Amino acid sequence: MVGQYEELSCPFCNQGRISALHIPRAFTVKHVKSGKGSANIPRKSSEVWLIRSGCNVCGKSSEEVEKKLKEEGMI
Ligand SMILES: [Zn+2]
Repeated sequence: MVGQYEELSCPFCNQGRISALHIPRAFTVKHVKSGKGSANIPRKSSEVWLIRSGCNVCGKSSEEVEKKLKEEGMI
């Protein structure tokens, strides 16, 4: 799985830097075999954010930051 590290600002204090791994929305192909042969079925996966650190300014944990970012629709 490929992803890219990005820095988000802390949703609580706006000063801390949160390190997150961002895996963009991607198409994956599922290979399916059936009685009549095989087919490749494209499947869409959703975008994923993995929060890797908490805030070193206000001390919120990565879980709290992730929850807050989701509530605010940032991720
Ligand atoms: Zn903070």
